Amino acid sequence: MSHPRLIVASRNAKKRREIEELLVPHRIEVLSVTDFPDVPEVVEDGETFSSNAAKKATQTARHLNCWVLGEDSGLMVDALNGAPGVYSARFSGEGATDEKNNAKLIAELANVPDERRGAQYLSHAAISDPTGAIRLTVEATCRGRIIREPRGTNGFGYDPYFLIPEYHLTFGELSSTVKQHLSHRARAFERLVGPLVRLLGGE
Ligand code: IMP
Repeated sequence: MSHPRLIVASRNAKKRREIEELLVPHRIEVLSVTDFPDVPEVVEDGETFSSNAAKKATQTARHLNCWVLGEDSGLMVDALNGAPGVYSARFSGEGATDEKNNAKLIAELANVPDERRGAQYLSHAAISDPTGAIRLTVEATCRGRIIREPRGTNGFGYDPYFLIPEYHLTFGELSSTVKQHLSHRARAFERLVGPLVRLLGGE
């Protein structure tokens, strides 16, 4: 019997790989929108993680007539009142890159002392059925601290600056195996997997 199939509505290759690693052990076949060249880009113009995740899932599901996972995530920094939040991917504006976003973040926190540099990553995931109806949502966070100099080359986005105090290491330094246990996305997926397998009829 072939495994149930889920399409990830993300063009971020590193994020897609993380999601694949989290779901494949549960015998769910994971594909991404990049495997379907004619899928139109979803405009992420929602003001919340949940509205963006649902929009990505629903629009892609209707287009492909498949089960789709939409995930929206971001970094929320305490001293910046939760910014960059839903704007994490384009914090530095038009033509944003990880480097430019990180430079802006570190500049904005330049005068913030070490004890007030707390932050969290948040991941919100929504599952749409092939008609575009949202059937499942989950959300989880991972707390850390923003350091001043980048450390490590693993992960993506703000990871070289995101320190997990318990490990004295950033997400840029931790192995993908450890990140896959601790991260906001891993925690959200832990909650998602059981109900998702039941919905899709997996293992
Ligand atoms: P999304 O693809 O619209 O969900 O944007 C997520 C953005 O949030 C990314 O481009 C990163 O800037 C940030 N982000 C989310 N999760 C992570 C992570 O695990 N590591 C580093 N940055 C992340």
